[in-house]
Amino acid sequence: MPATSGEDYSEDQLLDNTTLILCRTSSTDKVSFIWNTVLLGTDLPTTKKVMKMVEAICRSFLWTGSSTVSKKASVSWEKVCLPQVAGDLNVMNLVFWNRAAVAKHLWAVAKKKDCLWIKWIHTFYIKHHTLEHMPIPKNAVRKILESRKLIGDVQSIQGNLLNRLDQLQNGNSFSIRKLYRLQFPQLPKVPWKGIVLQPRLHPRFKFILWLALQRRLATVDRLLKFGVQIDQQCALCKLASEIFDHLFFECYVTKEVWSRLGDIADLFKIGNERWNR
Ligand SMILES: [Zn+2]
Repeated sequence: MPATSGEDYSEDQLLDNTTLILCRTSSTDKVSFIWNTVLLGTDLPTTKKVMKMVEAICRSFLWTGSSTVSKKASVSWEKVCLPQVAGDLNVMNLVFWNRAAVAKHLWAVAKKKDCLWIKWIHTFYIKHHTLEHMPIPKNAVRKILESRKLIGDVQSIQGNLLNRLDQLQNGNSFSIRKLYRLQFPQLPKVPWKGIVLQPRLHPRFKFILWLALQRRLATVDRLLKFGVQIDQQCALCKLASEIFDHLFFECYVTKEVWSRLGDIADLFKIGNERWNR
């Protein structure tokens, strides 16, 4: 795909492209695929309005299966975008990616890449200043120079601006992905990430398992919290209220399932365990 500015897409074109991809695909992996196909392959920057719109479409698709924008969500989008090692889905955070993509232009200016717009910036704006300390002009160059703060705030790289930009290189080019990842806080690794990352597990089951681990499945106790009038009895045994721990661990039907699975797969017995162990 040729390099294209995000500004070159009209909202309708973007919506059409995104909807087309949404209709052809069906999981969280595909939401990241949309970023890569519609936006990231274009080496942004992208406007805030376009980012919000695409994010809303992807969020709605994840939670409703439709590209019609909806506010329904069981887990916040910020959490959905956190890395898998932290127990989340690693869907692309477009705002973070866009910041990193803009910072790539700052790197290009610092390296005095041989192209007309960089020569123009050096000739008309930087002049006798240094890139690190020059005042920020009030025009299109502003966003690029504002990336200095982003680079300066990254904890895991050190030195002055030029040193920091060097540390964000991968070989001879700037790594947007490296800066993207460094914008996330250091999060503790969850011990169960290996289960959710199982490559042979069907994506739908992975998603349901992830929702269960977040305690966001639509069990009766949660539906009641939202005012949904529904039979409170456990659908399996009809002997107790359907709360999360009962459904997965305390119900005699569930215990029997765990027991048989344990016998078949030679798994450890988890019938009396709790989800958080
Ligand atoms: Zn039960």
